[in-house]
Amino acid sequence: MPLHLLDHPLAAHVLTLLREKSTPPAQFRTLCHQLSLLLALEATRNLATKEKPVDTPLEPFNGRALARPLVVVPILRAGLGMVQSIVDLFPDVSVGYIGLERDHDTAQARSYYCKLPPLKNVRVLLVDPMLATGGSAVMALNVLTERGATEIDVLNIVASPEGVAVVEKAHPRVRIFSAGLDRELNARKYILPGLGDFGDRLYGT
Ligand code: URA
Repeated sequence: MPLHLLDHPLAAHVLTLLREKSTPPAQFRTLCHQLSLLLALEATRNLATKEKPVDTPLEPFNGRALARPLVVVPILRAGLGMVQSIVDLFPDVSVGYIGLERDHDTAQARSYYCKLPPLKNVRVLLVDPMLATGGSAVMALNVLTERGATEIDVLNIVASPEGVAVVEKAHPRVRIFSAGLDRELNARKYILPGLGDFGDRLYGT
């Protein structure tokens, strides 16, 4: 199973507030930031490190430093809400962008923008808050692997069983980190119980 669910009381607390329909956009953004920090910490638990000798004011010390570059790629537009948390944790991270638009009637994804840093020998965090049909995630993963990425984690706030299965089938080596695994998709491909349209709630549209 490629799915890793956040197992932290704060994650459950924050996700519940995100689901509440009366939560206003300003609070929604803060909650999204909190959950993204927790997800990023969990997903990067196994980052490779290398020796880094430093001098403390008192004596030499053999420390550790991150060994490989990290790239975060949000799927526009909702994924933007998760980027700052990762930049806060990893100030040297490079940021790429993949713009995919979901047709509200057909739920099919369409690419309208793509700007990526070099992806060979880097760890990529693909961020998109809602893993619903899995169509956008697979489309983005196809782009990333075509550009040479070999180690990719998908970070989302809520996943559906359908979305996880679709990603797993198309990209079995990708790990998915999520704060919640919900019941199902409705006829319009929204996650149930879910939290509604993430981008609309984030930006107050
Ligand atoms: N995108 C969202 O924002 N919400 C869903 O429930 C599904 C896809």
